[in-house]
Amino acid sequence: MMLYTVSIIFGAIVGSFLNVCIFRLPKEESIIWPGSHCPHCENPIKFYDNIPLISYLLLRGKCRYCRGAISAQYPLVEGITALSSFILFMRFGPSLSYLIYFAFVAALIVITVIDLNHQIIPDVISLPGIGVGLLASLILPQFTFFDSLKGFLLGGGSLFLVATLYQWLFRREGMGGGDVKLLAMIGAFLGWKAVILTILLGSLVGSITGIIVMVLKGKDFKYAIPFGPFLSLGAVISLFYGEELIRWYIHLNR
Ligand SMILES: [Zn+2]
Repeated sequence: MMLYTVSIIFGAIVGSFLNVCIFRLPKEESIIWPGSHCPHCENPIKFYDNIPLISYLLLRGKCRYCRGAISAQYPLVEGITALSSFILFMRFGPSLSYLIYFAFVAALIVITVIDLNHQIIPDVISLPGIGVGLLASLILPQFTFFDSLKGFLLGGGSLFLVATLYQWLFRREGMGGGDVKLLAMIGAFLGWKAVILTILLGSLVGSITGIIVMVLKGKDFKYAIPFGPFLSLGAVISLFYGEELIRWYIHLNR
């Protein structure tokens, strides 16, 4: 019980750091220094105003000094990260698997929010992520290095092929190189079966969302919505329900 609470608090603290990454990585600023400032009045944020989730509620979403609005993105990211930590801890217990998969999900959270805000997936997350995923396979009991390598190659290779083909057919870029590197990272962490599942789930949810956006906003098909968040969502579903989904699919086809 105590440990579950610790996993939630740990998740919220990590989430607070992810917020810093989300704001500073696209601007290529240091994520260590300087400390956080209010974006409106530039006042440094005191440590007691920087408590994940709680400070936002106590300050009712406003800066202590200038009453400028604090983005709801801060508590949202902290809450989602805390929840992810808790769910992963329930699944894997106090283990290296928990830490590795939590780092993986944390990377996906940062990538998703940056891709939604700026339509880019920073290489500084996806490229080291590939390395960490390959190395983690040497430690993870669920998994062999060969599984991870196959996932990396299939993830990077398949999307690279689709992106090249699309560009050749339509003479414009449909999928960013960032998506290719993201799926390579997902493959390195989860293996080749999860890559297929991630593409299927990501495309399915992405198309449905795309159609809804087109209908609601009246935008045409060229209006590209970022694919990174859907790949990330597909990867998280694969991580939690991958085995069940594959078993269900095989059962369906017998
Ligand atoms: Zn302020």
